[in-house]
Amino acid sequence: MKFICIGRNYAAHAAELHQKAPEQPVFFLKPDSAITRCNRPFFLPDFSQEVHYETEIIVKINRLGKCIPEKFAHNYYEEIGLGVDFTARDLQRKCIQQGEPWEIAKAFDGSAVVGGFLPKSQFEEVQNLSFHLLLNGNKVQEGNSRDMLFTIDQLIAYVSQFITLRTGDILFTGTPVGVGPVHINDHLQGFLEGEKLFDFKVK
Ligand code: ZN
Repeated sequence: MKFICIGRNYAAHAAELHQKAPEQPVFFLKPDSAITRCNRPFFLPDFSQEVHYETEIIVKINRLGKCIPEKFAHNYYEEIGLGVDFTARDLQRKCIQQGEPWEIAKAFDGSAVVGGFLPKSQFEEVQNLSFHLLLNGNKVQEGNSRDMLFTIDQLIAYVSQFITLRTGDILFTGTPVGVGPVHINDHLQGFLEGEKLFDFKVK
């Protein structure tokens, strides 16, 4: 499986990184080795001094698909969850400045935290889901899928023009405003529509 991650899918987050909102979705990949499963600790890598959390709605792809039309994209996922796209912000800044790919900042081991999933059928509208992150008990990030610049269905249609989606692939749909650094012993809890979907510590 692979992780397909969307960059800058919320206008306010693009602004906090001093970047423009994109005209087309921007995506990058993480390999399967990037996974940190539900509620296992996240280990801070020693190659970065500034690892940031990015709380994101995640979507589990449930069928093989290529060049999926937007109107059929909803058939390609049945579960929606919450994850963290950990990012070595200091390395990412350097990559961007030098026009280099982002992998060292984004695709490292453990960088894709996959929390729990809920059935899509439980929600009235997938583009109106609220989520938030508690860092040591304080709400530091809050978002709603209605604020996505590109909807989940648009993302699936766009990405699948270039890359075949397979069963088990996970789409990270972008983070809202409020990203920030984590430190050893931090406690992260993520909620989607009030349900806790991850709870782990930084080691
Ligand atoms: Zn992200």
